[in-house]
Amino acid sequence: MSQTSALFCVALTVFVSMATAVERHKVVIVGAGVSGYAAATTLLANNFTDFVVLEASDRIGGRIHTVDFGGVWIDEGAEFVHGERDNAVFELASPHNLLTSYSSYISNDKHMFFDSNGREYNSTVILELMDKAKEIMFNATYGSFADYFYPRFQEYLTANNIDPEVGEAVTHLAAVWEMSYSAADSLEQIGARGETEYVENEGDLRWKWKSRGYKTIFDLLARRIPEGSQELPVTERIQFGKEVTRVDHEGGEVTVQCGDGSSYKADHVIVTVSLGVLKARVGMFNPPLPKDKAQAIQTLGIGCVGKVILLFPHRWWPTDINAFSPLLSKKQLEDFKKNSTHGYWTYNCTGMRPVINNDRMLLAWYAGESCRVMEKLTEAEVAEAQMELLNTLLGKRFQIPQPEGILKSNWGSNPYTLGSYSFHTTESDRLNVTRHDLSYPILHGDKPVVMFAGEASHPHYYSTVHGGLSAGVREAKNLLKYLGVQTENA
Ligand SMILES: Cc1cc2nc3c(=O)[nH]c(=O)nc-3n(C[C@H](O)[C@H](O)[C@H](O)COP(=O)(O)OP(=O)(O)OC[C@H]3O[C@@H](n4cnc5c(N)ncnc54)[C@H](O)[C@@H]3O)c2cc1C
Repeated sequence: MSQTSALFCVALTVFVSMATAVERHKVVIVGAGVSGYAAATTLLANNFTDFVVLEASDRIGGRIHTVDFGGVWIDEGAEFVHGERDNAVFELASPHNLLTSYSSYISNDKHMFFDSNGREYNSTVILELMDKAKEIMFNATYGSFADYFYPRFQEYLTANNIDPEVGEAVTHLAAVWEMSYSAADSLEQIGARGETEYVENEGDLRWKWKSRGYKTIFDLLARRIPEGSQELPVTERIQFGKEVTRVDHEGGEVTVQCGDGSSYKADHVIVTVSLGVLKARVGMFNPPLPKDKAQAIQTLGIGCVGKVILLFPHRWWPTDINAFSPLLSKKQLEDFKKNSTHGYWTYNCTGMRPVINNDRMLLAWYAGESCRVMEKLTEAEVAEAQMELLNTLLGKRFQIPQPEGILKSNWGSNPYTLGSYSFHTTESDRLNVTRHDLSYPILHGDKPVVMFAGEASHPHYYSTVHGGLSAGVREAKNLLKYLGVQTENA
């Protein structure tokens, strides 16, 4: 063999062995969103270091993604800390004065409602009707939200002599708001019984991060805040670009394989990927998941909710106004869909509101099909469509300049999220699916081999950051308990 071929053989052997090298750890955590990250920091806080976090993308955070746009930190995903009592995020953040209440910022008198003729509606009247709509919806305990809500709200509107066109418009807006809270395509999809499992944390439901956005939660978890604490070495435990494609757990031993050819052996794996990813990858487990778990993954819902943020050259709306919402009757909705040049999908906009710390930005939320359509369009197309909606509603009242920047999210099409957050469907209700079906571990004897965390696995706080965080802590503590490690009271 020539010297060159010998060198080539050595290089090839090194390359092949690198690609097939198997790392061994006691624990593998899949995903570095808040759930995986909290599992990791809980292990480290208890001096347990023999683990690795495998993250498919090139960043931590998952559905928490704070980006620098227009000179301020904007959250493309999670934005609010919902409630105070028993809320793990609030408990971490509030002692350090990192949160500010958004509720007063968006109080009723600061919200304007317009129809497609540019007519403005009395916001007190409209918001009272919206509150009534919500109250009826949240009393639902069987069937779908649609079955329960539509007839009862119609009865209320008739009994109170509400103008039919206003009634239609409020009914549509209430449905769109609920679709965005639940990440559902329609009220018909939402299972009323399952959704009663959700528990709202007491206290202000709309805390926002004062200046640095939701990414601050990772500084709190890793103890980079408060300054002077002993930082947990979580960063060095995370490997990026590791898309997990297979989890073998035959015989109680775990082998995790990644798309880049690397493999990891472990005693335990904690899976924290979103319900959307679990749906797409339910076949990656070998042996296959038990029937009830696979059924829970299949039938619980996770839809598309997203944001469009426009940056204007200057603030063109009054300083005492902090939100605009469309209020379109059935006929106006149809006409808008028919005649709109760019933006038939924008008819499902929940509203637009300014962003704290930058008074030149407006942020709009979209749910369901509108969100999916928005994700497929280019930024320029989305900006044009959003401007068409703004001009339709507000063009007669305000001089609206062309935006100079746009930011849009893509949670529905991002292959590592495949949806925004989870909800109970009528089908999961019919099959009596609970979140426990998602969260219980696959055991080998009494050894938890495949464990499940992530927002969707929390029994009451699913769909939130505090739910995802608490689920990660839960699985890490369960594991430490199994391993006989005394846990600190965290
Ligand atoms: C638009 C939007 C607004 C929201 N607003 C709020 C809000 O105001 N308040 C609130 O409390 N919650 C909100 N949420 C929900 C909140 O963001 C989520 O519940 C929470 O962040 C979920 O965290 P997680 O760790 O469970 O999942 P994820 O954040 O999805 O983390 C999972 C991680 O796994 C990785 N991953 C995926 N597949 C693989 C694979 N095959 N191999 C390896 N890694 C993989 C992902 O890249 C990701 O980093 C919002 C979400 C969205 C999308």
